Amino acid sequence: MLEQPGNVARKIKTLYALQAVFPFDQAVYGQLAREPAEHHPQVCRGCGCSEWDKDDRHAIRFAWSTDHSCVRCDGTPAAERDQ
Ligand SMILES: [Zn+2]
Repeated sequence: MLEQPGNVARKIKTLYALQAVFPFDQAVYGQLAREPAEHHPQVCRGCGCSEWDKDDRHAIRFAWSTDHSCVRCDGTPAAERDQ
């Protein structure tokens, strides 16, 4: 429900409860929920990672494939990615 347009977590307790179930950065959530689109951080639409995330979820070095997708989600072969 919080990802629907116009819905925003109003209590910090809600964010802590969600964070107990799945990892996310509350600062990034705050930017996406409250800042205008031109101030949104670049986040992969496939996995939700950004260049600032630790690379635990990526077996490969994090890199952008497009403005909205990392190379992992885009499926860019490693030979092309590391050039
Ligand atoms: Zn991704």
